[in-house]
Amino acid sequence: IFKDYVLGVLKESDMYIATSTIKLKVPEDCTNGVLVKNLYLSCDPYMRNRMSNFQGSYFSPLKPGSPISGRGVAKVLDSRHPDYKKGDFIWGITGWEEYSLITATETLFKIHDKDVPLSYYTGILGMPGMTAYAGFYEICSPKKGEFVFISAASGAVGQLVGQFAKLLGCYVVRSAGSKDKVDLLKNKFGFDDAFNYKEELDLDAALKRHLKLVKERAGGFYMVCFIALKFGFTGPWYFPDGIDIYFENVGGKMLDAVLLNMRVRGRISVCGMVSQYNLEQPEGVHNLMHLVQKRIHMEGFLVYYFYHLFPKYLDMVLPYIKQGKIVYVEDIAEGLENAPAALTGLFAGRNVGKQVVAVSRE
Ligand code: NDP
Repeated sequence: IFKDYVLGVLKESDMYIATSTIKLKVPEDCTNGVLVKNLYLSCDPYMRNRMSNFQGSYFSPLKPGSPISGRGVAKVLDSRHPDYKKGDFIWGITGWEEYSLITATETLFKIHDKDVPLSYYTGILGMPGMTAYAGFYEICSPKKGEFVFISAASGAVGQLVGQFAKLLGCYVVRSAGSKDKVDLLKNKFGFDDAFNYKEELDLDAALKRHLKLVKERAGGFYMVCFIALKFGFTGPWYFPDGIDIYFENVGGKMLDAVLLNMRVRGRISVCGMVSQYNLEQPEGVHNLMHLVQKRIHMEGFLVYYFYHLFPKYLDMVLPYIKQGKIVYVEDIAEGLENAPAALTGLFAGRNVGKQVVAVSRE
């Protein structure tokens, strides 16, 4: 249960567990109601924003004293909806509860493909997967050989964007908040480079170092690159002069440093700004003039406006999963009682991969 509106850092004590009993039947007067047993719940950064009483936003605030709602995977126990029957598996908006009576069924998707882990429908096969797909392909128009930088790169969305970019033949650099996450990015996902932003005092210098931005290098090396280009070695890793695509997950200081290092006509896909969600006053961004000087296209997006592409996305990603061409790392907390710690952990970077809560595994 969500206790009350939060100012500043979200704490576990902002949520509590309560017990009540319900009949495991959809009431007769509940037309189109679907009663489900929740299996997996998704912890998502936007849920923090629903815990502020912030009017005029695209997400409605949660109601104090009510169960938390969010995306999850569930099994249908009883249904008065023509599209869902007992035994079906669904994903969509449900409650942070063991059982939920869902009446807003327009947010539900039926699960057809069950030979992948069901928990994937909170991540790679659900909203975060669709976010990575829309934010990368639709917003960035990526091309082979381009330089891609991704922040919060080991999380639910970031780990996928990097893999999509690698499959396309891009040069991919990422940042994450611990040595273990950086090792995961380099070894498990095979990215070109990654760094721990928490160890970098100067993010601008870190980006230049890891993206091998040659303008910063000695004149001799500059000349070698020039000669390499002249003789046709045109791979961008010889002569990059900036980031072509930035997939923005964190905002704040990282965005400022990235703006300094964007390439002319670069693209920035603004997916989210998780570093700002717990702040009472958002940080300022100082380097926005680089948008003008470098004719950068910076575009925010909301995944909800891309759900019509979901079948196309599934057609692309399911074979990749089954062929082992895309891997997906999950961090699964066991039991509803551990859900508050799992959610608050997103803002301390405790999750390694997609943060899921397993309420029940069957
Ligand atoms: P993650 O699984 O990546 O979890 C959040 C991660 O953010 C943490 O693990 C942590 O990683 C990082 N983080 C937390 N606090 C900070 C901070 N102060 N500074 C820098 N990094 C921080 O979450 P998702 O992949 O689900 O979401 C990623 C982004 O995408 C979020 O901004 C989210 O709001 C956005 N989003 C947007 C959608 C849309 O429709 N536009 C839809 C879904 C998500 P680390 O250890 O690396 O710091």
